[in-house]
Amino acid sequence: MRVGLITGKRGLELREFPAPSPEPGKAVVEIAFCGICGTDVHAYAHGGGYTPAICGHEWAGTVSACGPDVDGVREGDRVAIGIAPACGVCALCRAGAPAQCSTVLMSMLGLDAMAPPHGGFASAIAVNAARLYGLRPQIGDAEAALLEPATVVTHALRRTPVRVGESAVVVGAGPIGLLAVQLVRLAGAGSVVVIEPERSRAELARSLGASEALEPGLADLEERIRAVCGPAGPDLVLECAGVPSTIQRSVELVRRGGRVGLLGLAAAPATIQPAAWLGKEVSLTASLGYTHEEFEATQELAADGRLQLAPLVTDTVGLGELESALERLTKPSGQVKILVDPRRGADPA
Ligand SMILES: [Zn+2]
Ligand SMILES: [Zn+2]
Repeated sequence: MRVGLITGKRGLELREFPAPSPEPGKAVVEIAFCGICGTDVHAYAHGGGYTPAICGHEWAGTVSACGPDVDGVREGDRVAIGIAPACGVCALCRAGAPAQCSTVLMSMLGLDAMAPPHGGFASAIAVNAARLYGLRPQIGDAEAALLEPATVVTHALRRTPVRVGESAVVVGAGPIGLLAVQLVRLAGAGSVVVIEPERSRAELARSLGASEALEPGLADLEERIRAVCGPAGPDLVLECAGVPSTIQRSVELVRRGGRVGLLGLAAAPATIQPAAWLGKEVSLTASLGYTHEEFEATQELAADGRLQLAPLVTDTVGLGELESALERLTKPSGQVKILVDPRRGADPA
C-alpha cells in the first residue's frame, strides 16, 4: 500500500506500507478522500515536529474490517475520522473539564499509543474505532472529508459566541474562513464581512452568505467595514488566516468591548500591542479541536443542507500529485480545499 508522508520542510515521500490489520479496538478504513489541511501545508512548507499521523487528518471512507473489542462501527459502514470521546479518567476529565480532556488532545496530535504510523494520505488506515463517526446518507464522501475542519469552526463559535443580529468580520476566506462565514450566520450573526485578497475566494464567500468581501490592503478598509457593520465596528472578529500579523489586526478591527476568536494557526510568533488590547477591553478566545458532540452537531447541519461543504472543494488529486498540490497551497491562489483520492493511481504496479 502506498502512503504519502510529509517528512520535513519541502519533504514529501511516497512510501510502501503493509496493508493495515484490525488490531483490538481498531477498525480498518478504506479511504475515499482525505483533505489537505493548513496544518499539512505548514508541515510541508516549514517542517517542524509534526507526527506522521497528523498529516492527513481530514478523511472519510468505508470500514473494511474490525478488530476484537470494537463496537459502534461495523464492516461496510461509511465513516469519517474525528476526535475520540473524552476519556473520563484523566486529570482534566476528573476536574470536570472533559472538553479539554488530555487523552483526546494527545490522540488529536497523534501522540497516543493508538496512533497509526501514517495519516490519511493512504488507501487504508487502522484507527481507534472510537474516533470513527458513522455518516448520514445525505452526506457524500467528498463532503464527509470536510466535516473535521467544519467541526473545528463549530467549536470555535461555541467558545466565541455571537448573539442574534450582531455583526462579524471573518479574516481570511480559506476553508476555515468559508466555514466560519456560514456557521456564524447559522449562529445568528447579522452582517458578515470577509477580508480576503484572492478574488475567487472572495466571490465564494459572497455566494456562501458574506454580506461583503473586502481586500485587506484597502486604504479605507475600516470605514468600509463600519459601513456594513455599523459605526461602532464589528462585535466579533474571527481570525481564520493563520498569519502572525492578523492577530493584532483583528483586535484593531473589532469594536471596543468586542470579541476576537483565534481559529487560524500561525506558524511563527506574533507581535501584539498590549495598549490596544487593554484600551479596547477586548475578549479573546483561542480554540483548537472540538468535542465528540460538536462533530455530530456539525454533521446534522451539513446533512440538512444548512451548512454547505461541497462548494469548498476546488480540486481532487491522486497520491502522485500530492506534492504538487501542497506546493500550490504554499502560494496565494484561488484554491480552497484540495482533496486527495488515494484510489487514483494507487496501484504502483
Ligand atoms: Zn485540519
Ligand atoms: Zn480525559
